[in-house]
Amino acid sequence: MNISVLTLFPEWILQGVNISVVGRAIQNELLTVSAINIRDFSYDKHKRVDDYPYGGGAGMVMQAAPIYRAYQTLMDKIQSTKSKVKMIYCTPQGDPFDQKMAEKYSKEEELIFLCGHYEGIDERVLEMIEMDWVSIGDYVLTGGELPALVMIDSIARLIPGVLHNQDSANQESFQGSLLEYPHYTRPQSFQGKTVPDVLLSGHHEKIENWRREQSVLRTFERRKRLLDQADLSEKEKEQIAQWESEKGL
Ligand code: SAM
Repeated sequence: MNISVLTLFPEWILQGVNISVVGRAIQNELLTVSAINIRDFSYDKHKRVDDYPYGGGAGMVMQAAPIYRAYQTLMDKIQSTKSKVKMIYCTPQGDPFDQKMAEKYSKEEELIFLCGHYEGIDERVLEMIEMDWVSIGDYVLTGGELPALVMIDSIARLIPGVLHNQDSANQESFQGSLLEYPHYTRPQSFQGKTVPDVLLSGHHEKIENWRREQSVLRTFERRKRLLDQADLSEKEKEQIAQWESEKGL
């Protein structure tokens, strides 16, 4: 997969992706990440890319022209390779990013992220470019760079071959709309707290059953609404109904 990020802070993106799992994926040529500086596409002699908002008000607005030029230059380059392109606009006004989106985007050949800054971007260029509007949560950040890095991280780890053990991606929280079960490692006893016996039993099936139960319980306790989308057995549904009646829900 090739990822390109249109940004005013390319060094922020490049520093963020060269670490840990994503950094290794890049080294192993499973992924490329390039950052395109929108400022390079300004025709202003001072390389300005922002201006005052029409109608007044606080802050500055990113101008349409440098973004559109950066986008077109990138698209010309990508389209010469005939690859399919999906573009994401990082915005607090977008659809909330989740694991399902990460899975969908991990199947793309070419992803482009557009990062805003200041008060935002001139609406006209947002109308001209076809993009998914995506938010990483209901809070406002300074720029789209951290959201792009968050999304790149969660997408990259789903690309086949990126994680040493692909099972770990398949079993993680939100897979099947359940949170993941709790983990334990050595020592067996820590400050008097011991590891659940079943995990020491060596009995594979019992361990799997215990983990599944813990997943359902955790999801019930912490993110109950996720259970609406989960694929649950009749026995699990009965168990949930019992927990609900115990809690008077
Ligand atoms: N004035 C804008 C608004 O109220 O919608 C917010 C602008 S914000 C200060 C600057 C940029 O940060 C946005 O254009 C967007 O690219 C990015 N950004 C901020 N919060 C974000 C979030 N929760 N998810 C995705 N991108 C975000």
